[in-house]
Amino acid sequence: QCVLSCPVGALTEKECIDDVWKALADPGVHVVVQTAPSIQVTLGEAFGLPVGTKVTGKMVAALRRLGFNQVLATDFAADLTIVEEAYEFLHRFQAGQLPFFTSCCPAWIKLVEHHYPQFIPNLSTCKSPMSMFGALTRYTYHQERNLPKEKVVSVAVMPCTAKKYEAARPEHGHDGRSDVDYVLTTRELVRMIREAGIEFSELPDEPFDSAFREVTGAGTIFGATGGVMEATLRTTSWVLLGNGTGQSDKEKPAPIEFREVRGEKGLKLLHVNLGEYDIRVAVAHGTGNARRVLEAIQAGERIDFVEVMACPGGCVGGGGQPILGGRDHKKVSLDYRHDRADALYDIDSHKNLRYSHENPVVQLLYREILGHPGSELAHRLLHTEGYQDRVKDDFKR
Ligand code: SF4
Repeated sequence: QCVLSCPVGALTEKECIDDVWKALADPGVHVVVQTAPSIQVTLGEAFGLPVGTKVTGKMVAALRRLGFNQVLATDFAADLTIVEEAYEFLHRFQAGQLPFFTSCCPAWIKLVEHHYPQFIPNLSTCKSPMSMFGALTRYTYHQERNLPKEKVVSVAVMPCTAKKYEAARPEHGHDGRSDVDYVLTTRELVRMIREAGIEFSELPDEPFDSAFREVTGAGTIFGATGGVMEATLRTTSWVLLGNGTGQSDKEKPAPIEFREVRGEKGLKLLHVNLGEYDIRVAVAHGTGNARRVLEAIQAGERIDFVEVMACPGGCVGGGGQPILGGRDHKKVSLDYRHDRADALYDIDSHKNLRYSHENPVVQLLYREILGHPGSELAHRLLHTEGYQDRVKDDFKR
């Protein structure tokens, strides 16, 4: 298992490439790979394509040629996360248990655990899309294909090294096995593609494997700061404005875009009006801005819903993404993240489905396996209550 020593996964990166090659060479195991939403707009840079080029189809083709048995988009699990998270938010909103914090960034979780443990109860219990997908694929392979759990190797291509740490956390696993066995950063994937001698630019566009192929635009924008907030507000507004009652209200459709939560500003504090409801939201990226939000809450400011992504720009700016070598870093530092995020929003704007709860495969999953958002099985597979006060651990060091 890949291990990190830095609490936010920024200082030590243990590579998993050899372990993944070994699994791919083993005919006795089924190797499933998932790719985070941001990878499709950053991978191409390493092969000379302009920043923000969408290479979804070539990325899938490359992973197939590397030998992965199944190639899946984490965007699907992001849709699932949003449904679980929106219902959790609504439940806490109605119960007055606010503020509510997103939980898909492991470096943000570590910041809370080590420096602000009093806010642990405010964190969503939803695991990240990566961990949800790992648990779900192992469960469904076992239930439906009768594949023993130990025969399924779960690999994730992620934008950061902190995800390696997240995968190694004991609560992100079942029966002594991690939900995700190996996490490769985008840069590690680049190395594997090069080692295999694959001509990336010559690859055809190929679709993801059919299981869980359906993804909405809401699942895709997770890769940019504000994306989780916007995706959650889409489904939350659908419920709060009455559309969630099952009575389609064509006169008053729930809003799709919440542009005010997008963009590079490090901390956005906003009121979002959803009918009779006023929700005070905070969107922060970078740990300095995360601290500002927490300190504002400590000082008594009312904030209902907080999204924090530890990397500047969100996952498009993750520490495992391609480094724009040879360019003036200062000059491109804002632009390149902006261009990558724009590419995600462009994918979203061209999708027929842009609300996570409209994902037909997510709906099928609830009908046939999970029951309903927040069900007992959903909690067992998709949630965790394993966050801990780690301040005392820091004193022991
Ligand atoms: Fe990883 Fe950074 Fe994304 Fe957090 S914001 S999940 S640390 S890439």
